[in-house]
Amino acid sequence: MAQQHGGFSASVNAMYDKAVALMDLRPGLVEKIRVCNATYTVRFGVRLRGSIHTFTGYRSVHSEHMEPVKGGIRYSLAVHQDEVEALAALMTYKCALVETPFGGSKGGLCIDPTQWDPHELELITRRFAYELIKRDLINPAQNVPAPDMGTGEREMAWISDQYQRMNTTDINGRACVTGKPLNAGGIAGRVEATGRGVQYALREFFRHPEDKAAAGLTGTLDGKRIVVQGLGNVGFHAAKFLSQEDGSKVIAVIERDGAVMLDSGLDIDALRAHIVETGGVKNFPGATYEADGNKLLEAECDILIPAALEGVIHEGNAKAIKAPLIIEAANGPVTSQANDILAERGCVIIPDLYANAGGVTVSYFEWVKNLSHIRFGRMERRAEEARHQALVDELERLSANTAVPWKLSDDFKSNYLRGAGELELVRSGLDDTMRAAYGAMREVWHARDDVTDLRTAGFIVSIGRIAASYQAKGL
Ligand code: GLU
Repeated sequence: MAQQHGGFSASVNAMYDKAVALMDLRPGLVEKIRVCNATYTVRFGVRLRGSIHTFTGYRSVHSEHMEPVKGGIRYSLAVHQDEVEALAALMTYKCALVETPFGGSKGGLCIDPTQWDPHELELITRRFAYELIKRDLINPAQNVPAPDMGTGEREMAWISDQYQRMNTTDINGRACVTGKPLNAGGIAGRVEATGRGVQYALREFFRHPEDKAAAGLTGTLDGKRIVVQGLGNVGFHAAKFLSQEDGSKVIAVIERDGAVMLDSGLDIDALRAHIVETGGVKNFPGATYEADGNKLLEAECDILIPAALEGVIHEGNAKAIKAPLIIEAANGPVTSQANDILAERGCVIIPDLYANAGGVTVSYFEWVKNLSHIRFGRMERRAEEARHQALVDELERLSANTAVPWKLSDDFKSNYLRGAGELELVRSGLDDTMRAAYGAMREVWHARDDVTDLRTAGFIVSIGRIAASYQAKGL
């Protein structure tokens, strides 16, 4: 059983309280940082399929010590106020830890996106966006959403367009949302960013012998046995990169309809294609299937990557988890009670506020790119672009000379060229960010006897920065 409503914020706050107890902050400030500033609830009707359907949505602002505030918009039937508030709080701590200059926010819409056609989803999204834009809850200077569970580039493009229709003279309109498609003001590498960040986080962890030793691990990521829960955008990219670039073996993937296992390592691209085609992991060729997927959270492995929902590792199953290392690709997958149970038996957890910060880091790059009105790396990357152009020319020549000539689509060419150079820049900026944030966190973890886990260390670094920023404002 996942935790009940109300449990998620309580869990995040318990982790926060554990960290502030080790800090020297004024009590008033402790309370000020902890509380969620405001949550706006909207109910709106959209005429669909001949009748009016009412939807409920939220946008929560946790902390405005820096503006704009930042955080995704989630589409799920499980969305509720406490969830959005807890996720907004995590955004505050996450942004401070990786030093993206944002406060924390989050949004959600109670909807099952699979039940609606794209044009219906567009109507619903535009109407939801309209309600938020009207109240400055979407605005390049005040509140900048991004994708989250159930949303992606397509929804962000609709939101951006909606904002620009309502604010035709705002030259910075595109910066009202991040995670847009490349041809609508997006940035190369944003889709993969959170999964890429998980990979960079693990690589950094494995660079430190002491840290590996704390989890009883040695060596590199090569050959490490990994269990992944959730093959959505984050889980898919993390699993793909770790297996294809670092030699790790993804021995099990847990999805909604069960889990598949293969000791020699699953082919992640093929599995994703199978899920897209059949709607689940069942019957994936060559793998063993288990209907009770969550049992696999308890499998023997080196690294467990929960990349789906919050609260999946809780008081009820924490004792049975055998992984020596957990990296929280999802937000809040380990409850505070589970955290303590796991810590007792020496399990190391690379916490969400750090582990999944790749998304917001690259969102920051996109926001800056939109505000600067210049293609990222434009100045420095001329030579790179010329090389990419030469590659496109060469591809065109080859494609024209095959037995059955084929043509590169204009879309491919322009996207490829637009992304050229930018992708390397984004990846290296992300890597740098992940390494710096890990360094700050591990320093506190190792320097202080009273700090026994990475999460508390991460919170201490983050809260210290937020407190400094409130103090600078005169609070
Ligand atoms: N939804 C993502 C997260 O939870 C990305 C947020 C953003 O890019 O603003 O971190």
